Amino acid sequence: MRPTFLTRLVNGPLFDPMLYVRLLNRRSSLLFDCGRISGLVNREILSLESVFLSHLHMDHSMGLDQVFRVILHRGRPVHIYGPEGITDKVISRLSSYEWNLTRDYPLEVFIHEVGEHEIHTTPARAHESFKRSRTDSIAREGASIAYHPRYCVDAVVLDHNIACLGYVLREPFHINIRSEAVHDQDYKTGPWIGLLKEHILMGRMNEYVHVPTSGGMKEVLVSELVDELVIISPGQKIGYVTDIRYSQVNIDRITAIASSVDLLFIEAYYLSERESQAYEKAHLTARQAGMIARLLEAKKVIAMHISPRYHDRTEEIYRELDEL
Ligand SMILES: [Zn+2]
Ligand SMILES: [Zn+2]
Repeated sequence: MRPTFLTRLVNGPLFDPMLYVRLLNRRSSLLFDCGRISGLVNREILSLESVFLSHLHMDHSMGLDQVFRVILHRGRPVHIYGPEGITDKVISRLSSYEWNLTRDYPLEVFIHEVGEHEIHTTPARAHESFKRSRTDSIAREGASIAYHPRYCVDAVVLDHNIACLGYVLREPFHINIRSEAVHDQDYKTGPWIGLLKEHILMGRMNEYVHVPTSGGMKEVLVSELVDELVIISPGQKIGYVTDIRYSQVNIDRITAIASSVDLLFIEAYYLSERESQAYEKAHLTARQAGMIARLLEAKKVIAMHISPRYHDRTEEIYRELDEL
């Protein structure tokens, strides 16, 4: 099965935590946190649909300016999600630049401030010099904050001495195209497969898709293609948790969205020899990260944000992470 979400921990486990997720068969991607972004090429930045910030400490957010710089000419908007206070901080960094030459640029930035009970969305547009526009507020229903036919993002507010968001990216269900069936039907692969998946996700079973065959184009009903080619299986689920205190409230909130994740990206900042410091600074030790991963029954755990003081002791970090 080809996964829909192709993940890359851009700065590895030692430096600014940042997860880049490419969406298969689409020129779109998502970013979780945005510290040092020199590991992303412009093509990857240009494909960003949304950026999900855990919080606004510099190591998680300083790359935003570079994102804006690269996508400034783009017609497609960008969505920035983050915790309480994000709107003022993003608007103030945008307002620190002169924008007299960009009034005919189409870029729109939508800033989504995610609270426990509400989401406040504020647009800022290039042609208005990124001045703050009117904020719309909606009550949160459930954990989801971003919806798309191909994915959903859930978020919970966690404690890092400031508000910090924990995220789960999930696919509603996974559509597998049986390549041998494509061959048996004499269909040629191409962009129509992405379109077919889009129709299935949107429930448009009565649409037709133009399918190339060796005898030319053929119009086939989506429901027919589903019968011929498709197997539906559970979707991928990926957790992203960083910069949090090991507390029961935090653990309960993470469990509410991230149980049985396929992949858990989680900070392992300290070794447990500094557990009291971890509590005070509201970070996790590797052992605590491992306990959370086991509690969630995560299928795979990826440690990140390992403190510089342990960069020559990473094997101890990994040992603690795996300890029972
Ligand atoms: Zn951090
Ligand atoms: Zn932090």
